[in-house]
Amino acid sequence: MPRSTKEKLCKNCNETKPSGEFYYHRDRRKRGKACKSCTDKVTRKRHRKKRDEGDYKFILRSRAAVIKRDKKAKFANGGPLIPVDSNLPDILCELWESQSGKCFYTDVPMILGSGKFQSNNPNFATVDRLIPNLGYVKGNLVLCGRLVNGCMQDVLFEDYIEHCQFFVDNANTIREKLKLI
Ligand SMILES: [Zn+2]
Repeated sequence: MPRSTKEKLCKNCNETKPSGEFYYHRDRRKRGKACKSCTDKVTRKRHRKKRDEGDYKFILRSRAAVIKRDKKAKFANGGPLIPVDSNLPDILCELWESQSGKCFYTDVPMILGSGKFQSNNPNFATVDRLIPNLGYVKGNLVLCGRLVNGCMQDVLFEDYIEHCQFFVDNANTIREKLKLI
């Protein structure tokens, strides 16, 4: 029988599947006892539990991986080169600890969690670059709520404050203009 048609019984779902449907463990030099689909289910469940429990190390490490992947993909597509520190996972965890899980700007406790609904929360933890072009490197990062980060976008803090000041100073004029629409 050719190698590719070899079959194996999954100890989890009790189904017989081609051996290619089982992950190969290089260190153990053999395939897993459960099939890929069963293994993936267990992994997903374990990851979801960690996110639901607010395991900040797990969540921030995954976040760092997403940032790295995202910037690399954008650069490959002709975007700007945004430096990403290879220690980003540790940097984000240290920030979370030193800020005690609070937004750098507002001191409001941030939310990590999982799911698309939580990421819409204004207090959802995001990574802010103080000088955007310097990228995700130590000394250029703080954690802050989604709303604050969303407002500031890629603007420097002092420019942002000037912008806010304009709105505060002209609030009544803007209110009057809005009434005329
Ligand atoms: Zn299985």
